[in-house]
Amino acid sequence: MVEKVKRIWMDGELIPWEEAKVHVLTHTLHYGLGVFEGIRCYKCVDGRSGIFRLDEHIERLFQSARIAQIEIPFSKEEIKQACKEVLLANGLEEAYIRPLVFIGEGVMGVHPYDNPVRVAVIAWRWGAYLGEEALKRGTRAKTSSFVRHHPNAMMTKAKICGNYVNSVLAKREAVKLGYDEAILLDPDGYVAEASGENVFLVKDRVIKTTPPTTILPGITRDCVIKIARDRGYVVIEERFTRDELYIADEVFLTGTAAEVTPIREIDDRPIGNGVPGEVTREIQEIYFKVVRGELPQYRHWITYL
Ligand code: PMP
Repeated sequence: MVEKVKRIWMDGELIPWEEAKVHVLTHTLHYGLGVFEGIRCYKCVDGRSGIFRLDEHIERLFQSARIAQIEIPFSKEEIKQACKEVLLANGLEEAYIRPLVFIGEGVMGVHPYDNPVRVAVIAWRWGAYLGEEALKRGTRAKTSSFVRHHPNAMMTKAKICGNYVNSVLAKREAVKLGYDEAILLDPDGYVAEASGENVFLVKDRVIKTTPPTTILPGITRDCVIKIARDRGYVVIEERFTRDELYIADEVFLTGTAAEVTPIREIDDRPIGNGVPGEVTREIQEIYFKVVRGELPQYRHWITYL
């Protein structure tokens, strides 16, 4: 359950949590055309709270809206301000922030015409997405029976609400079968991404990740590529198959919610020695320092409150 906070930012104002409601004729509720973001705010080493890569997340929100042909009735600056306000209004030092842009009530056909575009920014406390244990010991994943979107069916560069039906189905299947997370293949059969994370593998200390073609180009993915290259690792963006994962030395997932989560087993095959590998642990440790402002060279990624 999401832990309730006092206020939610909705359509330009902070309102009580209980009042942040929508009508049942909300267009997005029926047809799934809306866009959203997932952002984290961390309590940094100097005691201040900092929103991690706020500019990039808001940029992607507007790109998602452009792809979905939704006109956001606020500026990027206003949405950034809303993210800060919702944290301050709720006294949240660390939180997950969810801006959501959706189409309200009006006409009810598939074409939303000029139904109002509405915006909410919600923040709540959210610990490790796949659990503390997964961060430490690694998680167990399953290749999904569901295929990730063909880019001409659902556009993967946008965080469109409806895109996540595919993720929910894959995640539910994986959990039902006793796994923690689902890895989805693209329509050509190559590894695409997990239900809410990007996928990385390590083989002979070379790091590989899916190219940003039929995936959501993750902001954590971008951080990890930069961090790894700064540490002297070779990072290749190239398609790979599920069996390449099986014989990798290490596999890990990246995402704002999941952060850097090692995978210890895929489809009942242990990855490497079946425990988080050295490279994964190194990247994870640096990532957690970066988000908390411990490393000056990456502090420009943080917007302090
Ligand atoms: N792929 C999918 C499908 C996702 O939902 C997410 C989470 N936003 C990611 C990848 C990772 O993106 P990010 O690192 O920007 O959170």
